[in-house]
Amino acid sequence: MTDPKIIIAIDGYSSTGKSTVAKQLSKTLGYIYVDTGAMYRAVTLFAMRNCYIDATHFNEEALERQLPFIAIRFEINPNTGVAEVVLNGENVEQEIRKLEVARFVSQVAAVSVVRKKLVEQQQLLGKDKGVVMDGRDIGTVVFPHAKLKIFMTATAKDRAERRFKELTDRGDDVSYEDVLKNVVNRDHIDSTRKDSPLKKADDAVEIDNSNLTLEEQYEQILKLANDAIVTVNS
Ligand code: C5P
Repeated sequence: MTDPKIIIAIDGYSSTGKSTVAKQLSKTLGYIYVDTGAMYRAVTLFAMRNCYIDATHFNEEALERQLPFIAIRFEINPNTGVAEVVLNGENVEQEIRKLEVARFVSQVAAVSVVRKKLVEQQQLLGKDKGVVMDGRDIGTVVFPHAKLKIFMTATAKDRAERRFKELTDRGDDVSYEDVLKNVVNRDHIDSTRKDSPLKKADDAVEIDNSNLTLEEQYEQILKLANDAIVTVNS
């Protein structure tokens, strides 16, 4: 009998709204949601706290040596029902979302041994299927055989506006220019790195949401998901 559950990979540029869609989809389907960006952000926070990375230097060797001592897991927030990231026993969900962490995350995510550790963990999280995972390399590297792959894009301006609103809504003191700079800079590092660069998988469905409302986008993606689930079970 075929496994009724599938893996849904949602990749794309920063701040395209991947996580909003992925969360909503996982709730509707009763699937697990895994935010892989949060895992890279947690490793980055660890590196920042230990002074392995700042604006002037990055001690990759020190981070590599400490990797075995970095434990990342998710725990469900009972009030929101959403999975939050826990770094070595501490819930760091709020802290990893800061622009300061976003400034360094792409450098940390370009380190192959960091990727290897996190990809292994992501593959374990998805081994029983029934998972919606969002990131940059889910459809190309983590689950190249995922039954549904979505690749989300939008203009840098639209994405920076979305991110700026998110950050200022929660009280962070940031400027729009800095957010835009960060979005463009991360796009560049993420798509030009040697290991697992951000790119659309050949069999991914591309969705440019610059001119779509959240509802229109969600409807499109839910339909793709339901079609993929029906195909697998027929
Ligand atoms: O998705 P989010 O914007 O939180 O991701 C933060 C960063 O983590 C990305 O800019 C990218 O450098 C890295 N990342 C990655 N591979 C993933 C998910 C995120 O390299 N699968």
